[in-house]
Amino acid sequence: MLECLEEKEIISIKNLSVKYNNFYALKDINLSIKEREVLGVCGESGSGKTTFCKAISGIERYNGEIKFLKKSKIDFIFQDPSSSLNPRMKIYDIIQEPLIVREKIKDKKIINEKINNAILEVGLNSDLLEKYPHQLSGGQKQRVAIARSLVTQPDILICDEITSSLDISVGAQILNLLKDIYQKRKITIIFVSHDISALYYISTDIIILYKGLILEEGKTKDIIKNPKHPYTNILISSILTTTKKENIKIKNNTTKSKCIFSDKCYKYSKDCDNYENQLIDISNDHKVRCIKYEKIFN
Ligand code: ADP
Ligand code: MG
Repeated sequence: MLECLEEKEIISIKNLSVKYNNFYALKDINLSIKEREVLGVCGESGSGKTTFCKAISGIERYNGEIKFLKKSKIDFIFQDPSSSLNPRMKIYDIIQEPLIVREKIKDKKIINEKINNAILEVGLNSDLLEKYPHQLSGGQKQRVAIARSLVTQPDILICDEITSSLDISVGAQILNLLKDIYQKRKITIIFVSHDISALYYISTDIIILYKGLILEEGKTKDIIKNPKHPYTNILISSILTTTKKENIKIKNNTTKSKCIFSDKCYKYSKDCDNYENQLIDISNDHKVRCIKYEKIFN
């Protein structure tokens, strides 16, 4: 678990929604992301995580407002390095591309130096620079993708399920690498994972997404040690061996509640039918979309 040291806001998100036809992939997201924050974005498949990343990086149309508090450089690392790295290019050229195309650097000596530094920073041997992506392992390819991002010195790095296509041990090494990069560089990271244990390790703050809505948001230590939403509790108890799990599980309810999670909730009762599904402030930096937030453990 990391702690964010800065208080300065770098991204301000107001009433962000993304709609595909009549379907909201994201709805009414309000969020303030601080400089040097590692924002963990958690949620099951289809909850809107990738849409959130795409909206922030400007590659998806949205309604609402996303403001950057300074001219920030954003870079995006995708889930599957096999499809994000051009198979016809040597690793050297892959890492060089953003330097030439985006940074407009022409000096070969500077380019060489930047590429060599980046490849060392991600823990790879410079011999790999002459190889093609198919000659590398999954973990090595993801390190190349990280190196390609780092050469341009991004202020904000968006990592969308970057360990999901890897073996657990390789994924853990990538997570370690990212933590080192975070601690060395002044950088803000948006780290998406369906696996909350990865977020426990890497993030300073967490949002829990469900069907395009934030169900809970707060500091990582509060979310993990003191979850307030039943869904968060289900996610966390699935990774802890110590909690009693009989009652903490997905249900199948028929409800009239506007609460978006009520049909699956182990705490659902008639009281929830009056709830308007709004996000509730429980402290300065902890919000939850549940009226039973004080009673989710019993
Ligand atoms: P996640 O990354 O959490 O798995 P996504 O953000 O990819 O979720 O998708 C959220 C929802 O939006 C899903 O139901 C998905 O099917 C839908 N969706 C994503 N992209 C599109 C698109 N281009 N057109 C229509 N629906 C989409
Ligand atoms: Mg996704």
